Amino acid sequence: MFNRIGVIGAGAMGRGIAQLFATSGQQVQLYDTRSEAIDEALAFNRKLLERSVAKGKLSQDELDAIMSRMQPATDLKEFKDCDLVIEAIVEILEVKQKVFGELEGIVRTDCVLATNTSSLSVTRIAAGCQNPERIAGFHFFNPVPLMKIVEVVRGARTDERYIQGLVELADKAGHFPAITPDTPGFLVNHAGRAFGTEALRMLSEGVATPQQIDRILRDGPGFRMGPFELFDLTGLDVSHAVMESVYEQFYHDPRYTPSFIAAQRVAAGLLGRKTGQGFYRYE
Ligand code: NAD
Repeated sequence: MFNRIGVIGAGAMGRGIAQLFATSGQQVQLYDTRSEAIDEALAFNRKLLERSVAKGKLSQDELDAIMSRMQPATDLKEFKDCDLVIEAIVEILEVKQKVFGELEGIVRTDCVLATNTSSLSVTRIAAGCQNPERIAGFHFFNPVPLMKIVEVVRGARTDERYIQGLVELADKAGHFPAITPDTPGFLVNHAGRAFGTEALRMLSEGVATPQQIDRILRDGPGFRMGPFELFDLTGLDVSHAVMESVYEQFYHDPRYTPSFIAAQRVAAGLLGRKTGQGFYRYE
């Protein structure tokens, strides 16, 4: 169903999604408003694949073939022949709605439009579109090639055919597709509130330091990362936007109250790995 895939946004998620599908055999075009982001994404992906070659997990020919299936796009209009477009841009409803509106004027009517939103309502993103039935959530996790699960989110008007198409595509790429309803935070970021938001509350109450909380949650219940390590990996700007969005959508249920600590740290640019400093420092 999906041979040509367009990816919008060449950041942490977009580059991973591009690599995943180029590896599974699809032709991928990658677009970003910042052309340098596309160059950086392709260089980043090449480096990852080179590591696999060095480890003997991939041949040089396979690397070349995967890289040749990931092409930069300089304009959204180049997505006109895509069967599927996946959006992975900034987590702001109005910006995503604008991009989907623009896309509808470019792609064929049978092209499926998917959003990698972490927490915004897929139904609301689709609300202003002429064909909301072809819009679905396709929510990957960072880093995409390694986190082998994806939420396939059914908006209020998404056509079941497209949900099944995305499920098959995810399966083919080796990712487990979890079909979820379009509820705030879907499954992972709803359940994850207890992990992230509560850890920030513990910090603001002076119960423990980020290092202590991370260590306890790794060594006790056995999480692979503690919540502060995960904030630094995800980017606190992205995580804080998710916390605010889930809180809004649950009509300010106090269980989901975002943290002033996170708001302050975002304002200070302490976003995590991508800025060199978050709850931890990175060289
Ligand atoms: P990012 O900041 O790393 O990358 C976003 C990219 O989008 C940037 O390169 C930016 O230049 C580009 N962009 C912004 N507006 C654009 C537009 N109008 N048109 C084209 N390009 C545009 O962000 P990210 O972490 O990759 O997150 C992207 C999306 O994925 C968000 O919706 C986020 O909630 C979601 N998400 C993030 C994570 C994560 O762990 N970081 C996990 C799952 C989902």
